[in-house]
Amino acid sequence: MVTKKQIIDGARNESRTLLTEVESKDLLRQAGINVTDTRLATSKEEAVSVSRKLGFPIVLKVASPDIVHKSDAGGVKLGLKTSKQVGKAYDDILNAVSQKYPRAAVHGVSVQKMARPGVEVIIGMSRDAQFGPVLMFGLGGIMVELLKDISLRIVPLTGWDAHEMVREIKGYPLLEGYRGQEPVDVPALEELLVKVSAFIEHTPEIKELDLNPVLARSDGAVAVDARVVLEESD
Ligand code: ADP
Ligand code: MG
Repeated sequence: MVTKKQIIDGARNESRTLLTEVESKDLLRQAGINVTDTRLATSKEEAVSVSRKLGFPIVLKVASPDIVHKSDAGGVKLGLKTSKQVGKAYDDILNAVSQKYPRAAVHGVSVQKMARPGVEVIIGMSRDAQFGPVLMFGLGGIMVELLKDISLRIVPLTGWDAHEMVREIKGYPLLEGYRGQEPVDVPALEELLVKVSAFIEHTPEIKELDLNPVLARSDGAVAVDARVVLEESD
């Protein structure tokens, strides 16, 4: 397995600060953070063989250190059920991306299993000039973008900080099981927040972090997308 140092040095040797989804998830997994098992495939044949190994349904995403928003680039294909669908999705992603971002470096595609549905939540970190690293929690989609329904805490977080953070957002009832929905495993979310906080505390090279989305379910929480931005090295 590649070490944290290898991943960070690898990006820095290429003079880039954005880690790909695969690199970001590798780092997070090493910190004990629950992420979907995500592999890089550098050809269509490899994308198909990795899909067979992981098991269908599968998700393919463009793997590029130059592309921040993969969906906007036509770079995400969900719920692929057969080898044939994976092969077609591979071509479609590379075509769409080469049209929209002709100059982007593309490593290939990331391959992961389609996760079971859950409530989409977001965990983010940015560095404040005064307070240092600050952790953000919110519900995914319009709740964060439009309604700014988020909670914030300065790193490092205690378990109690995490407990409060989750309950502070207006959308908290959605996590408790709104209108017959199954309640999500809130302690798993709190644990995730504390683990992310500890990871940030011990990784000063990271400037920004986004787990967007984390799928919160009754049986735990898993990040299906991750993005790490490194500090500029001097
Ligand atoms: P983007 O770079 O556009 O943020 P994401 O990796 O977040 O790309 O994928 C877009 C959306 O696809 C996510 O918000 C989520 O709803 C869904 N998605 C991504 N990966 C998975 C997965 N492994 N299982 C289920 N849904 C997924
Ligand atoms: Mg995302």
